Amino acid sequence: MSKIFLLFIHNTYKVLIVMTNKTCELLVIHCLDWRLQSGLHEWLREKGYQGKYDQVAVAGGAKDLVSSASAEKKYFLIEQIDNSVFLHNIQKVFLIHHNDCGAYGGRAAFASDTAEKIAHLTDMEIAQEIIETKYPQLTVENYYAQLNEDNNEWRVTIERV
Ligand SMILES: [Zn+2]
Repeated sequence: MSKIFLLFIHNTYKVLIVMTNKTCELLVIHCLDWRLQSGLHEWLREKGYQGKYDQVAVAGGAKDLVSSASAEKKYFLIEQIDNSVFLHNIQKVFLIHHNDCGAYGGRAAFASDTAEKIAHLTDMEIAQEIIETKYPQLTVENYYAQLNEDNNEWRVTIERV
């Protein structure tokens, strides 16, 4: 989108066209965990989104949208989504949770890797329903990131779930 201004300078009319394109397609909501960041941003770059997405990094990702969170925490996340929708006209939201997430008590809080993954998937599905109910125009995609330490580096494998 652009705006056209007609300016009167030195007794002459000038036409000034100002690009006001402030939209972006995607909002990414993910955990603040430092181990996730490098791999996540590389993954987004590979998908063609480098420099083209809004981002909310908060402990546990979409966890605060589900019913066990306080009203204030829910409101914070809703407000961030509101901003992204109204300021940038996003069309899509990626919810990205990960294993060994401290906001969920880490890996140790679960009896198995499968139980951990199911807990995250369940919360993301609830969060997805909340977002899609409030904003029927948005498409929400859920992703689960596996963190694995390899030679003092964190490898991140992200799958759609
Ligand atoms: Zn986390």
